[in-house]
Amino acid sequence: MSDREISENSPSQRDAILGTLLGVAVGDALGLPYENLSRLRGERLFGEPDRYRLIPGIGLISDDTEHNCIVAQSLIAQGTDVDRFLPDFARRLKRWGILLPAGTGRATIIACARLMVGVSPQRSGIFSAGNGPAMRAPILGAAIRDLDQLREFVRVSTRVTHTDPKAEFGAWAIALATNLSWQDQELSPQRFFQRLTETIADEPAEELIDLVAKVIASVEAGESTTDFLDSRDLGKGVSGYVYHTVPAALHVWLSFPNDYRNAVQTMIRCGGDADTTAAIVGGIVGARTGTAGIPPEWIAGLRDWPRTTRWMKELGGALADSVETGATDIPPQLPWWKELPRNLAFLTLVVGYGFRRLLPPY
Ligand SMILES: [Mg+2]
Repeated sequence: MSDREISENSPSQRDAILGTLLGVAVGDALGLPYENLSRLRGERLFGEPDRYRLIPGIGLISDDTEHNCIVAQSLIAQGTDVDRFLPDFARRLKRWGILLPAGTGRATIIACARLMVGVSPQRSGIFSAGNGPAMRAPILGAAIRDLDQLREFVRVSTRVTHTDPKAEFGAWAIALATNLSWQDQELSPQRFFQRLTETIADEPAEELIDLVAKVIASVEAGESTTDFLDSRDLGKGVSGYVYHTVPAALHVWLSFPNDYRNAVQTMIRCGGDADTTAAIVGGIVGARTGTAGIPPEWIAGLRDWPRTTRWMKELGGALADSVETGATDIPPQLPWWKELPRNLAFLTLVVGYGFRRLLPPY
């Protein structure tokens, strides 16, 4: 069976949710040292993205994983009522911003600051086409089965921080990809394209549709993602602009829809915003493979705290319970007095690591 035909058995939704959460976390942790390095520099400095390298052997996660966890908490707490999801998500986002997260996107942190000073979640977003909303879209695609409902959640989750419609269309493409990744046994690149165009036909998303059409043609022609990016002047690295991030992630996904290891490694080798791109690809492919498809040594190597693998599994399990029963619940939480010192230690590590990157090899 060819990888491109995407025709293995669909996983259960529980597998999809857990595979997405851990798939995001592992991709994030593997990609983190390569963030904002060019393809060549990343390779020279760290070699192959086959193990955790920020601290050797220890997988640490960043905002990409944290946002998917926050979305999961809000879904458990508020269910599928999008009007109740919005204030709950905004409140958790504000709390996340107060606890000094490192290396976050500009629009997201400005929107958090606006929430902190009392701006409503309907008005907190700023005009930006960054990839923040796309990075937290995988868990929505794993948890929400119905596409109309999913569309509403992507809209709301996006606008809290980003109001440029491009940010929303890009997030939609990622949520839809994750949804089809676990729900559609017969999925093919053409089928994904058809669903994407059907679902945003009435909106000014021509540029995204044109970009995705190029992705599909390239994947079907057997072109590698790096060659595709070279042809689009993204050879140095994939930026955090959503119309750079999303086509690159979709290209990798459609090239390796059932192969978590190759998908994530290929994505990181493309350079640029590697933790976010690998987290997105990891979330989409993980939805299809479940945790069984993620290399066990990578799952075992995740050693963050207090957002441990065990805690994320508990969170995913609670979300799956809530989705199955339709009942809301108090989600697993983390106390601020654990998150704050962890974030301060992580910030110190990231700053130290920033200095290390000033040194050779270049
Ligand atoms: Mg990150």
